[in-house]
Parts: sequence; structure tokens; C-alpha cells
Amino acid sequence: MPRAIGVFGGAFAPFHNGHLRLAIEARDALGLQQVRLIPTAHPPHRPDSRVSAARRLEWLRLAVRRERGLVPDDRELLRDGPSFTIETLIELREQFPQAALVLLMGADAFRHLHTWRRWEELLEYGHIAVFSRPGAAPEASVETRSVLSRRRAPDIEALLASTAGRWLAFEPPMLDISSTRIRRLLRQGRSVRGLVPDAILNAMTPADRSALTQDDDATTH
Ligand code: ATP
Ligand code: MG
Repeated sequence: MPRAIGVFGGAFAPFHNGHLRLAIEARDALGLQQVRLIPTAHPPHRPDSRVSAARRLEWLRLAVRRERGLVPDDRELLRDGPSFTIETLIELREQFPQAALVLLMGADAFRHLHTWRRWEELLEYGHIAVFSRPGAAPEASVETRSVLSRRRAPDIEALLASTAGRWLAFEPPMLDISSTRIRRLLRQGRSVRGLVPDAILNAMTPADRSALTQDDDATTH
């Protein structure tokens, strides 16, 4: 049974080398036996995505096939309706009662934590490890500060001394890649080699490219 499990969710449309590298850095920096990569079924901010969930999962599988401890997890795709992280954490807690669960989250997401469903309960089921994103340092929002200030762990040992309940900022080296940038390059007919794992690139069909280029890019990243 793994002692410490990372939980890394995203639209992954497509999964790219920034995601891959982050998962590896988190695994190694935090000493995680597993990082579970969880594609979201219905990205709430991108409801009309043309890239199917099955395809996003397939790409993810191709990308991490040979990576120690990186585990594609399709539980949100199997659930009806939109997925909420709290439900995913509760399920994982039932499945791994003894493990430290560590939700991996970009600082941009962390600043909006108060908008997440039942956010106060997340720490009952797991820890949170926040990593910097360009323009966003790991900082709790005003709305969450009174709860989170008491829960900050001084270091990784303190975090992993329990299975849930604390948060920590960590600063992995980051690749400047986003799925938005990849979709934009594809739209321009340009190469995305080096940004997307070769295994994904080699499996991309014209239909995949077309679906990705049609995706709405009104989102920020
Ligand atoms: P989009 O541009 O479509 O929003 P994205 O590249 O931001 O895509 P998501 O699927 O939205 O990817 O993000 C999933 C998770 O991956 C988020 O927690 C996000 O912070 C993180 N992430 C995205 N890009 C990187 C990167 N280059 N390095 C590390 N983490 C990243
Ligand atoms: Mg994003």
C-alpha cells in the first residue's frame, strides 16, 4: 500500500510536458509513491470541449506508461455529471485509508479555493501542496486565510506526518507550457513537438487535431 499519494487533476486537453514534469517533480520532491492523474469529466470552465474524455484519457495513458508511480485515474470520467474534487478525495480516502493524500494545486487555483464546493472539508480528507504558477505565488486568499493560516505545514516531513489536514507551498522548476498554447499552435498549423510527449504526438489523428483546434480558448491559464 502506498504511504503518500499525490492527486493531480486537470482537463488535460491535451496532457503536455508541463503536466508530466510537474507530476515527476512533485513525486520526487514530496516523496510520493504514486501521483494519480485525474482527467476532469466536464471541465466547468470549458463545458463545450470538443475533445472527448476517452481521448484525453488515452493520451494520458500513452504519456505515463513508462513512468514510475504515475497512475492515470479515470474515476471522474465514470461519474455522472460534473465532478467536484471533494467527492474524488472522499473516494480516494475510502480506497486508501492509511495513506497521506496530497492534492497538487497551482497557485492560481489555490487563490480561488473558496469558490470550490465544500472547500473547508478538503483538508479533512487530504493535504494540499501548492506550486507557483507564473504571476501567482502560493498565497491563501482573504476568504480562506483564517482557516488555512493555522494549517500551514513548515516542511514536507510535517506534512506527511499525518494523512490529512495541512498544506504546504513548494516551488518545482516549471516548464512554460499550457494546453492553451498547444491548441493555439495547432490552430496555426505549427508543430507542438517538444511540448507534448512524443507518444501522444505520434498517436494524434487529424480528427484529434481538428477537435483541439476547435476548442474554445476563452479561458485563462
Ligand atoms: P489550459 O491552458 O487549457 O487551461 P493547462 O495547461 O492550464 O490547460 P489544465 O488541464 O488546465 O492545463 O491544468 C491542470 C493542472 O496542471 C492545473 O493544476 C495547472 O495548474 C497545472 N499546470 C498546467 N500547466 C502546467 C505547467 N506548465 N507546469 C506545471 N503545472 C501545470
Ligand atoms: Mg488551465
